[in-house]
Amino acid sequence: MARINYWTAKMLSYAGRAQLVKTVLFGVQAYWAQLFIIPAKIIKLIEGLCRSYLWAGVGYVTKKALIAWDKVCSPKYEGQRECKISNNASWMVQKIMSAKATFDQVQQQQNKGRGILRHMYYHMTRRQPKPAWTCFMYSNASRPKAYNIMWMMMNQKLATVDRLTRWRLEVDKTCVLCKNADETIEHLFLQCQFARKLWEKVLRMLEHQGTIPMVWKQFQQWCVQNGKGKRATTQVFKTVITEGIYGLWIERNNRIFEKKSRKEESIVKEIACVTIARIPTASSKMYLN
Ligand SMILES: [Zn+2]
Repeated sequence: MARINYWTAKMLSYAGRAQLVKTVLFGVQAYWAQLFIIPAKIIKLIEGLCRSYLWAGVGYVTKKALIAWDKVCSPKYEGQRECKISNNASWMVQKIMSAKATFDQVQQQQNKGRGILRHMYYHMTRRQPKPAWTCFMYSNASRPKAYNIMWMMMNQKLATVDRLTRWRLEVDKTCVLCKNADETIEHLFLQCQFARKLWEKVLRMLEHQGTIPMVWKQFQQWCVQNGKGKRATTQVFKTVITEGIYGLWIERNNRIFEKKSRKEESIVKEIACVTIARIPTASSKMYLN
C-alpha cells in the first residue's frame, strides 16, 4: 500500500503502472509467499490492490477494470503491451523499467537461455563477452613487451599505415618489409613475403604441420585452435608466435625509423633464444638446427 501511494503513481502511464505491478508488486508478494502461507483472503486483497492500481492508479480497491484480471496476467498480454517510462517517474521506477528492458533484450539474444546471467552482467556493465582468441594470451610466456604488441595486434590497434591514413596522416603506404604492397595489418603479419618466410621457418622449428593463414579471420581462428589447453607444447607455441609477431613489428619499425634491417633468420634465432630462456623445457619441444 505504502509503495503504491509512494510511487509517482499518478504520473505513470498505464503501461508504466502495468510494468510496476508485474516487476515489483508481484515480486513483493512472491517474496512473502515464500516465507508464510498467505490466507486466500489476503491474496485476493493484494490482487484487488494490484488491479485497482493498474486500471485506476489508486491505492485502494475499486471495481474499475477494462480487462479481466486472469487475462491481464496471461503471458500473451505481456507480449502485446508496450512499456513507456514517464519522464516524471521517480529514479527508482526508471531504474526498474530500464532493467526490465535490458532483461528482455538479453533474453531475445539468448533464446536458448544458457549463460543468461553472464550476458545480463556484460550487457549492464556495457562490457562485451571476451573474444575467443584471449585463450592465446593465457600461459603465454613471451616477454611483456611482446605480449603487449600481440594483444594490440589481436585488437587491431597497432598503428599500421592503413590506420594512419584513416587518421588523415600523410605517410608512405608501401610495406617496408617487401616494398611490394600497401601496408595493412593483414599484409604486414600474414601476407607479406618477408613474414611468410619468417613464419615458415618458425613453424618448421616447432615441427608444426600446415601454414599460418593469410586472412585475418582465419588467423584468429587458427590462434584459438592452437592456443587452447595447458600442455607444455601449447605454451611454447603461443610464446613463439607472440615473439614472432613482435619480431615483425620491431623489424618494420627499425626499417622505418632507424633505417636498419635484419634477415628473417636472425629474427627466428632471437625468437628461439628468448623462448628457451623463458621456458627452459622448450628446447626439447623445438627442432633447432
Ligand atoms: Zn610486405
